[in-house]
Amino acid sequence: MRVLITGGAGFLGSHLSDRFLADGHTVIAMDNLITGNTRNIAHLAGNSNFTFVHHDVTNYIYINGAVDAVLHFASPASPIDYLKLPIQTLKVGALGTHNALGLALAKGSRFLLASTSEIYGDPLEHPQKETYPGNVDPIGPRGVYDEAKRYAEALTMAYHRVHKVDTRIVRIFNTYGPRMRLADGRVVPNFIAQALRGEALTVYGDGAQTRSFQYVSDLVEGLYRLLMSDFNDPVNIGNPDEMTILEFANMVNEVTGNNAGIIFKNERIKGDPQTRQPDISRASSVLRWEPKVKLREGLEHTIAYFREVL
Ligand code: UDP
Repeated sequence: MRVLITGGAGFLGSHLSDRFLADGHTVIAMDNLITGNTRNIAHLAGNSNFTFVHHDVTNYIYINGAVDAVLHFASPASPIDYLKLPIQTLKVGALGTHNALGLALAKGSRFLLASTSEIYGDPLEHPQKETYPGNVDPIGPRGVYDEAKRYAEALTMAYHRVHKVDTRIVRIFNTYGPRMRLADGRVVPNFIAQALRGEALTVYGDGAQTRSFQYVSDLVEGLYRLLMSDFNDPVNIGNPDEMTILEFANMVNEVTGNNAGIIFKNERIKGDPQTRQPDISRASSVLRWEPKVKLREGLEHTIAYFREVL
């Protein structure tokens, strides 16, 4: 297959590029580099099956020749980033998704939208099934990301229903691993960087809020299976292993041997979701997929990466 990956220089886009190349496909990675970085794909330079195109997908996307699949991963994704880049975030979810779908329609490609557990907002259903419509405040600070992705899902289903584009929607839950940006503000790089510097870990709020962390290789496997399936409705891909942020902080201190402890800070953003855990029964029955990497093991790989970066 010849595959276009928007956001191809980002954390997930670069791991996807690796996976598709490893399986013998050709990859065009497109990125405007506002949150992505060519460091993530530097190891692919010189690979004749790989091309990088510096382009902002909110503008018309032109690709010469056949495209078998479009994987739309371009978007700021860390709360810190989308608070700094609210309009770009809305534009890439709306205009960027429109351009990417238009390309898929013109080329007869499969289309995979990277959506997010954020479409569930601060959920009133626990764990979250794909049938749960969510609890999102459109004008809250996180609304720029949540609503952009909700619109992107709506547009994807409209192209599927009206234009018969062969679409997929993945709702990605918190994912971590090598190539996350050290300073992207999310809890995994923040805690690891603080721990490796011997600083106290900053827990926002009381730390009772929960997240469920999945290692990036599990996500990539789920995405690959979803693309190869014929399933058009949204599928959660995440690790149901849920913990509080305080428990997670203790774990990072333990694994890194950091003795500086924890400090509590005010809630980062109004409306921080209090719980988050995927129900993965759909992925398990439709894709025969389940996460394999335990948190401790994934953390060790990620810590090794950040040690080098630091
Ligand atoms: N968080 C924290 N300390 C940090 C960074 C994040 O306590 O240094 C908390 C944050 O308030 C949220 C959770 O960790 O409750 C996950 O935040 P992240 O930015 O990783 O992603 P989110 O799941 O909120 O999109």
